[in-house]
Parts: sequence; C-alpha cells; structure tokens
Amino acid sequence: MVNIASLREYLDTQLPAALDMLRQMVGINSYTANRDGVNRVARLTAESFAPLGFSAEFVPCTNPAWGDHLVLTRRGSSSKSIALISHLDTVFPPEEEVRNNFHWQPEGNRIFGPGTHDIKGGSVMMWLLLSALRTHAPKVFEAVSWKLIWNSSEECFSPDFGDVCLRHFDRGTLAALVFEAEGRVGNQRMMVVARKGRGTWRVTVSGRGSHAGGKHAHGVNAIVQLGQTVQRVAALTDYSRSLTVNVATISGGTVLNRVPHEAMAEGEFRTFTPEVCAQAKAGLLAMAGRGEVCSPADGLACEVKVEILTESRPWPRNPATDGLYMLWKQAGDDLNLPVNCEERGGLSDGNLIWDAVPTLDGLGPWGDNDHCSERSPDGSKLPEFVEVTTFVPKAMLNTAAILKLYESSEGRER
Ligand SMILES: [Zn+2]
Repeated sequence: MVNIASLREYLDTQLPAALDMLRQMVGINSYTANRDGVNRVARLTAESFAPLGFSAEFVPCTNPAWGDHLVLTRRGSSSKSIALISHLDTVFPPEEEVRNNFHWQPEGNRIFGPGTHDIKGGSVMMWLLLSALRTHAPKVFEAVSWKLIWNSSEECFSPDFGDVCLRHFDRGTLAALVFEAEGRVGNQRMMVVARKGRGTWRVTVSGRGSHAGGKHAHGVNAIVQLGQTVQRVAALTDYSRSLTVNVATISGGTVLNRVPHEAMAEGEFRTFTPEVCAQAKAGLLAMAGRGEVCSPADGLACEVKVEILTESRPWPRNPATDGLYMLWKQAGDDLNLPVNCEERGGLSDGNLIWDAVPTLDGLGPWGDNDHCSERSPDGSKLPEFVEVTTFVPKAMLNTAAILKLYESSEGRER
C-alpha cells in the first residue's frame, strides 16, 4: 500500500500538466470522420506518453476513411501485463464545434469542450495513474508490461478494434481497464461491470401504388401496414428483462394523390444477455412475410421484409469483471472513497473484449452531457464537460486498485 498523503500530494502537483495535455487533445477536432484530426490526436498522445517509456505503433483501421488505432507498449520485467483502453474520436464534426462555439472553456470546477469527458479526460487519467505508479510504486511499474490501446473509431462501432485488442493483449493479461467516464450516484463512484448489446434493424413494407382518387381500392397501403407492424415491434420491449426495442425513424409515400407502395422504419434493440438478444432478434424476424393490409379489390397483401443491419454483442455481468470490481471497491474503502457498480445501457470497447480478458470500465473522471455541444442562454442546455476535482481522487483510486491487482496476481503465482 502506498502512502496516501504523498500520493495525493504528487497527483496534485501533476494535475496542471495533465490538464494542459487535455487542453491540447481537446484543441484538435477528432470527429470520427475527421481522419487527419484523429491521427493528430494519436500522435500527440504517443508524444505525451513517450517520456514514461512507451513506444508507439499506429495500426490502420480496416475502414480506410477512419484514422489509425494507436497501441503504446512498455515492456515489463515480469510476465504480468495490464491493458488500458480508450478512444481517440469524438462525435462532434468541426463545423458543429464552430457553429456552437464549443471549445476548451474552463468555468469554475468544470471544463467544457469536445471530448473533455468522452473520452480525452479518460486518456489523461491513464497518464496520471501511470505517472503515479512510476514514482510511488516503481517496482510494480517496471515489472508490468503495459499495453495502452486507443480505438480510432469507437463512436462509429469500429469494425476491427476488437481484433486489434486481441492481437495485442499479452498472454495472461491481468485486466483490460476501460477509461470511459465513471457514473455517480450521490457520493458513490460507479464502476461499469456490464453493458447492453445492441442490434439495429430495418422493416420495409411493399404494397401496391394506385391512384388515390380513381383506383383507391386497388391500392395496397404500405404506410398503413407499417403503422401496424411498428406497433408490434415496439411491443417487444420488456423492461423486466432489460430489453428495449426502439422504433427510431420512419418514412414512406411520395405524393398525396397516390396510395403509397413503400414504407420503411429503422431502429435498434438493446439488452444485457445473449439469450434475450437472440429472442429479440427472432421476434423481429418473425414479423416478416405477408401483412394483413390488402387491397379490397383483389386481396393482394402487403409484403413485410425485416433485416437485422448490425449486431454488437452484450457484455453480461461475469465473475472475472466482478473480481476486478471488488479490488476497486476495496481500494475505495482504503481511501475512504465510496465505490459501487452499475450495468450500463450504452456500448463501449468493453463489449468487444470482456470474454478474452477480465474487463472493468468506468475508470475515467466524472463529468456530464456527453455528446452534447449546445448551450442555451437559460442554461437548460449545457455542453459536455469534465469536473476538474474528480481527476485526483479517481487517479488515487485507480492507482491503489491496480496495486491490489498486481499483489493478488503475486499471490496466485506462489
Ligand atoms: Zn466514449
């Protein structure tokens, strides 16, 4: 166990450098589609971690429109390895940042700006805790092989980042720690121990177009059919099983004097377990086939087509993650920082890796309003921000917990 007072004092002295690193990262637009910007953040990140002894590898994304993933490695003297995971991209196009005057903006204890919270604040948290380990637990810092892996396109469900992680994890990696933001309930810091999986779907209805005045009965109205089908899609939602099915967009028809021959809706579904995911998918696909809306003239019915567009698997609650969570909780007890856990609806890179390596998420600082760039004069809309005073306590918690993780692995080897 490190000396808590001296660790806090050290982190306090490092915070200005960390915030300056964050300012530089936030100053570079890294919207997923801004390939150059993402690559610039990757280079800046590699330069920032180089003084800690990390060497950089830039791994091209299989989607050539997006920037490179970044892998930083520091070889340790033992066989123990720990992976830290973050991402380079944000959801804000450069034009939107300009339009909403959304940039690095400290205000009291908050710093507003694109990516301050999701997730550049988390990347800086990695630097803080590694710096703390180097000075306060140099034996552990030197013994561990550190793998720091940044996704270039997390916000767009990167096609290959899971593979990049699996290729770069060392054998017997003790943990993959994901630096998405922590949750807060009262004074409790919430670690993320599970995340929902997500599927996206499209329903397309084909009917038969006809003249709405002269041949209305000949028409087979695709919109009327879709209206009925989406009711049934929405009804698949089952909160008791944490299954949500969202009907998100709808379109159809062309001009007002025509019975519409086509209509389409799209949406997504989310849940925590593979079983419920599979049931939701089956429920959606079962809606395909002949519809009930048909032509009064000759009985021709609508045809309903259902497609599953994408599937991101869930990260269910599991013993390996719970084992890590207990270390963070114990470290919180030692530091007098209450720690709890939550199962979150949004995806992260944790969904891609949890069954390969014990995974824990939510190691970042606290902030709010992720993915929002707007500010209204009455303050009812505020953009993304990170809270400055959450960096040091969270860095202490992460540092102390990683030391526990290292110690517990020593125990296993003896
Ligand atoms: Zn994120």
